[in-house]
Amino acid sequence: MDGNRNTSGSEGKASALPLRDIHAVRTLIGQKVELPSPPGIVVRILEAVQNDDQCFANLGRIVAADPALAVKLLKVANSSMYGCNGKVQSIESALTILGISALKNIALTFIIVRTMHSDADGFFDFKYFWKRAVTAAVAARTLAQQVGQDSDTLFVSALLQDIGVLVLFHHCTDTYMEVLVQKNSRARSGHDIEHELLGFCHAGLGGTLLKDWGLPENIYLPIFYSHRPQSVPDSHRTTLDILNLADRISATYHGSQSSVNMVEVLDVLTLRYNLTEQEAKNLIDSLAGQANEVMDFFDIPNNKIKPFSEMLQEANQELGKLNIGYEQLFMDLKQSKEESSIYVTKLLEANKRYRQLAYRDELTGLYNNRYFQEAMENELDRSKRYQRPLSLIFFDIDLFKEINDRLGHLVGDVALREVAKQVSQVMRTSDIVVRYGGDEFAIIMPETDKAGLEAFAERIRHSIEAMTITVDGVPLQLTISVGGTATSGKQKKVNEMAIIAAADKALYQAKRAGRNGILVVEL
Ligand code: GH3
Ligand code: MG
Repeated sequence: MDGNRNTSGSEGKASALPLRDIHAVRTLIGQKVELPSPPGIVVRILEAVQNDDQCFANLGRIVAADPALAVKLLKVANSSMYGCNGKVQSIESALTILGISALKNIALTFIIVRTMHSDADGFFDFKYFWKRAVTAAVAARTLAQQVGQDSDTLFVSALLQDIGVLVLFHHCTDTYMEVLVQKNSRARSGHDIEHELLGFCHAGLGGTLLKDWGLPENIYLPIFYSHRPQSVPDSHRTTLDILNLADRISATYHGSQSSVNMVEVLDVLTLRYNLTEQEAKNLIDSLAGQANEVMDFFDIPNNKIKPFSEMLQEANQELGKLNIGYEQLFMDLKQSKEESSIYVTKLLEANKRYRQLAYRDELTGLYNNRYFQEAMENELDRSKRYQRPLSLIFFDIDLFKEINDRLGHLVGDVALREVAKQVSQVMRTSDIVVRYGGDEFAIIMPETDKAGLEAFAERIRHSIEAMTITVDGVPLQLTISVGGTATSGKQKKVNEMAIIAAADKALYQAKRAGRNGILVVEL
């Protein structure tokens, strides 16, 4: 099947390059995966929408012929999503009220989700997959509304964004298992591994599949380019930005890096969508209810997503309660024989999760080491994806032990807090300042090359040297030694470990060179 069912009409003119890209990817796909053909009803719906004279009647007839689809459509049309509560009684009135485009999108979504919903081997966590996809879909719809884009189309695009993953699982299971194993070893991004093992990634596969199935260009193209946004045609850039942000929002709800994602998502919403921080938080919270509603429609088993702020609050409360150590926990549980092992696992899992969500250092209020690890992974991923520079600084207070010994630990604490405050004031808001441990701090600096790194390192060193802390009327002065690594984002082999090790070594050398100095290296 070729792309002649395309409904956007723009293909072939502005998008000559994308078409070539898609052909190239399709050739690679052809050597590894036989793409599934579209469910018949998808073809009929798209044909009906194309033959615009009679599509009203045609579309109605096609939908009515699939009772499960018709019931779902009416349910969706009457939901709070479309604000027609209870008014839509028939497919005809759904068409009049919602319009053909919205109805088509709902129908396509329902059929595709229904088609791709089972896994004979039980390997694939469909529940998780669709939960993430649905949350991204409601996020994309909400973001689209904020900026006046077509929210129904964005809903579908976000929902189907990772459909390539499903196809890989069904048709290339062994290779995809290998992708997952390598991804879990955390050395590289899934996208890179897919390219290495397959020659294409799930985004290219998903976009190509949806094009072949005849879905419109404004759905399949942004998906095709979702992992290499720099190549997307300008006409689809806004859509792609929304898709990427929606994906990140979904990751704050379901991913393992909630805290880092949340901070970045809030930044984007306030800076680019002109929302206040409170409005941004409300927007994110409102998605939980919407996602639950949509999951009900699609019969996706769901133990109800909670608004993000509620999740965070509960996490903090639980963390407060979890002061007992693991050993104590095990002892207690051993004694009370009636407690089942499932309970232990659950507690440990909960404990792990709550701790993951806590990412602030108590003494200084800066981010902590846990946050650092997540942020570093994220930022390096992004730096490589967009081929943008990234720098890392480590700095450590010179002869800090002496201050503790001479003036006491409490004064040492005040000094650590003052250093944290000073550095936070000097850095840009996009930089991530972390208390790495003890008297050692780290700063992740996105979009910063070696020249910038040098300038920042010197600025921090100087600002600490110039600062006087007064504790109980006694003035105290400090110096720091600074080590840094700059990377260009263009070298695939550079990983977090290498960057951290190089910055650590540079700091060590700065200490050996006599302290109160900087040393930066480039990888
Ligand atoms: P160097 O110039 O080589 O870094 O010398 P140093 O004395 O600073 O040595 P080092 O960095 O190894 O020592 C760190 C000291 O920081 C040791 C520890 O007692 C102190 N420290 C670590 N955490 C805290 C804290 O939370 N509060 C206070 N007051 N001191 C801390
Ligand atoms: Mg020190």
